[in-house]
Amino acid sequence: MEQLQMDAYWMPFTANRQFKSAPRMLVSADGMYYTDDQGRQILDGSAGLWCVTAGHNRKPIVEAVQRQVATLDYAPPFQMAHPKAFEAADKLVAMAPKGLSKAFFVGSGSEAVDTALKMAVAYHRVRGDAARVKLIGRERGYHGVNFGGISVGGMAGNRKHFPVSLPAVDHLRSTHDLARNAFSRGEPEHGAEFADELEARILTLHDPSTIAAVIVEPMAGSTGVLIPPKGYLRRLREICDRYGILLIFDEVITGFGRLGADWAANKFGVLPDIITCAKGLTNGVVPMGALLLKPEIHDAFMAAAGERMIEFPHGYTYSAHPLACAAAIASLDLYREEQLFERAAGLSAYFEERAHALRGQPYVKDIRNLGLVAGIELDSRPGAAGQRGFDVFLKCWEQGVLLRFTGDILAVSPPLIIEKHEIDRLFDTIATALRACE
Ligand code: PLP
Repeated sequence: MEQLQMDAYWMPFTANRQFKSAPRMLVSADGMYYTDDQGRQILDGSAGLWCVTAGHNRKPIVEAVQRQVATLDYAPPFQMAHPKAFEAADKLVAMAPKGLSKAFFVGSGSEAVDTALKMAVAYHRVRGDAARVKLIGRERGYHGVNFGGISVGGMAGNRKHFPVSLPAVDHLRSTHDLARNAFSRGEPEHGAEFADELEARILTLHDPSTIAAVIVEPMAGSTGVLIPPKGYLRRLREICDRYGILLIFDEVITGFGRLGADWAANKFGVLPDIITCAKGLTNGVVPMGALLLKPEIHDAFMAAAGERMIEFPHGYTYSAHPLACAAAIASLDLYREEQLFERAAGLSAYFEERAHALRGQPYVKDIRNLGLVAGIELDSRPGAAGQRGFDVFLKCWEQGVLLRFTGDILAVSPPLIIEKHEIDRLFDTIATALRACE
């Protein structure tokens, strides 16, 4: 084969020079496994990038996309539509937490977040409450990389080169509390009171009637698998209700079964006003994101605009793309037919045992888990934060296992079709990698 030229492609969120000096190249995928360019089988411990819910190369999804591209490759989404968009919205809403009965399609998780923030501000405005413009996010939140998302997100590193933020944004403290909750299984016992900070902040630093929305990931995924303390989300909901503030759950990772329930909203019994989702919506096959929202929000826009007016001046060229809609319909059908969310719930106790068996291995300072996700937090190398996580990631890759790492935290989040022997292999490989880093 001709030598691959690697100069032109500037890779996202990647140490480009390190990568290009020793590339990790995936060339095909099936079920739980990738194949790399050396012909090695790689066990997918991260569901691609948290998105390949039903495993790779699933026939019903592949065929649906093939049929769609040969039938209707593209349709403009503004003032025009195609039937699959309505079908996909119907299916998604049928699977949504009860009470969220409208769907708005976008192209990614980042677009879903920025759309939700705009929709929240505009919602108050169309109801005559134009003073509500402030947005509240949380430290260690990740809401994608667009300007809205990095503004409400709480990752300083993602903002450091972009010192321009939405005005009128504040952040709650992260609920991560290693001192009280290390090695928790499932929801940590301590920390519901972190939610009370919302009330304290809006009363002392803001006028509550200026707050449009609060956005949180029910479980913060990308910043290290931070499971919400028992009762925390319910308290956030109560405070938002008390002050007329919209609550947005960013379920880009937690949607579609990751926590052993269809949605985090259902897992924790807390209904937000808007959910953002993406990733598993199409099993990662075609880029797509969506908002699920209460009908009151939709109806307020309808009531405020004349019948021939555009009610919400927002959308993308690729909103409700026909290929994405076909992939979403087939994916949601597959999840239901194979009862994958129930499967994740059924495997979660085994997964938890295997994750926590890493306690006592070198550098392990915390393990946390819920459903089919686990975070393993490691002691940092002195003066080199993040390097230990990278080392373990590379050692696992050498042994044919793909994981995610964020700083010195490993994230394990396999496709929901994983078998027990593959769960064993994931955690055994991590143990070997940790010992090899000693
Ligand atoms: N929100 C959350 C919670 C995410 O985890 C992510 C991606 O990991 C995003 C938003 C951004 O999604 P995308 O990368 O599709 O833009």
